[in-house]
Amino acid sequence: MIPYSKAYEGTVRSMTVYRGKGVYGAVAHGKVSFFRRKETAVRRENIEDTAKELERVEAAKALATEQLSAIHDKALKEVGESNAGIFEIHIMMLEDEDYNDSITSIIETQKVNAEYAVAATSDNFAEMFANMEDAYMRARSADIRDISNRLIACLSNSGGSDAITDEQVIICADDLAPSEAVSLDRDKVLAFVTAFGSSNSHTAILARSMNIPAVIGVGGEFLGSVSDGDEIIVDGHTGEVFVSPDEETTGRLLKKQAGDTEKKRLLQELRGKENVTLDGTKVRICANIGSVESTGAVLADDADGIGLFRSEFLYLGSDDYPTEEQQFNAYRKVLGSMAGKKVIIRTLDIGADKQIDYFKLDKEDNPALGLRAIRICLTRPEIFRTQLRALFRASAFGKLGLMFPMITGVSEVRKCLALCDEVRKELDSEGIKYATDTEIGIMIETPAAAVISDKLAPLVDFFSVGTNDLTQYTLACDRQNAKLEAFVDTHHEAVLRLIEMSAKNAHANNAWIGICGELAADTTLTETFLRMGIDELSVSPPYVLPLREKVRSIRL
Ligand code: PEP
Ligand code: MG
Repeated sequence: MIPYSKAYEGTVRSMTVYRGKGVYGAVAHGKVSFFRRKETAVRRENIEDTAKELERVEAAKALATEQLSAIHDKALKEVGESNAGIFEIHIMMLEDEDYNDSITSIIETQKVNAEYAVAATSDNFAEMFANMEDAYMRARSADIRDISNRLIACLSNSGGSDAITDEQVIICADDLAPSEAVSLDRDKVLAFVTAFGSSNSHTAILARSMNIPAVIGVGGEFLGSVSDGDEIIVDGHTGEVFVSPDEETTGRLLKKQAGDTEKKRLLQELRGKENVTLDGTKVRICANIGSVESTGAVLADDADGIGLFRSEFLYLGSDDYPTEEQQFNAYRKVLGSMAGKKVIIRTLDIGADKQIDYFKLDKEDNPALGLRAIRICLTRPEIFRTQLRALFRASAFGKLGLMFPMITGVSEVRKCLALCDEVRKELDSEGIKYATDTEIGIMIETPAAAVISDKLAPLVDFFSVGTNDLTQYTLACDRQNAKLEAFVDTHHEAVLRLIEMSAKNAHANNAWIGICGELAADTTLTETFLRMGIDELSVSPPYVLPLREKVRSIRL
């Protein structure tokens, strides 16, 4: 990424801004400290005693395993089990048969030293992963280099990286390996910025769970232009990095940081606490997101999961139909970064206000009442099938729930479920894994669905009430029309009765019910919803904590 301002005035350096991917939304202000690895230059040496070299490899592996176990234990305490899992994988990779066969064969056939054999194996394997089509597998190339560097360091008996200074700093690096990121002393690291690296890497995932503001992939130019000790501000919200920030920028970002601090203060008080009323009623509080990148905020706010992932944003951000592979990667990324928490992905909901050129939808007089959402999917099953295949494939990598929007009748639900069955059979015949316990639900966002919720509930695992559309359709008020605001009573008894009716019918049929429309964040209604027996409230990330506070103050 190219800096958009780069000027020097005498000895006073003017501000330079770099852009990358913010992987954890927070602001940090401090001095640059470059992360330096103790380089272990690997030389090729001819040796006679190959058995001795093989013994050295075994000893180094034992030491590397010991180090990785210690890192794993540290990660377990600091970032939780699912994130610490990568170091168990590293330990397993050290034992990988192909990897070890390659090292042994290079030593024996070329009669070379162990360090060289490990370095050559690392290059070969890392390149092989880097060329794979699957983005997740490509990102594993960094893991191969990470374990190999460790092994080489153990062979040479040299430690890992240079210790960082005593003051708090912003760590800047070309890239950080997961083990390097987790080995950083959390108290001394204000933020980190890397020139390269993917937001799919475990390093990015770790940054989120360690609450470290981080920007990844600002570009190679950053490395040449920034030095130790430079003043820098990292905005993990926007992915911007300001080097030698000017007064206005500093003031603005420090204000943003103060806002974050206040939010964090709340977070600290509420993190880990149950979403439970004073008299013991529990409710799940989840977050709504529209992009793969937003999971950082969801984890930071300690939501119970994602109650609504608006999958249409993948389509909206694309110039053509996203392929099965692109969707699979996106869904898997969301599931992976939510570390085992439930993620409900809503199938494509376009039409009405969300128009996409390449769908070539006809212009309609009343688009909100037109061909939208599930109606498009059922009319063009090839698009729907691609999405369902991607979703079920991704289901093997986390806890997926899926739901269908704009349902009005039983036959639509049956058609959706039949297509799910077909897709699962197809995957079976191709030998592709998927979770067999994926919950399937529908949105209750038309009055019709609420009124016949007794008929719909036996077909599904859950309902999710979309109050934005439910209100528009119940009150006959176009949600896009600003002139109707005076006519929209968001607490209208008709809407509340439809929600209550749906809750009753869900529970009578062993289904659960959540609300994912904006009304879920209206804390003046929280008590009403809990009295109706709503099991889950899903809101935009900034509302998770105020809602948790509210729930904990209610006595039903
Ligand atoms: C809703 O209608 O309440 C809802 C959550 O869906 P969207 O706002 O995306 O239409
Ligand atoms: Mg809706």
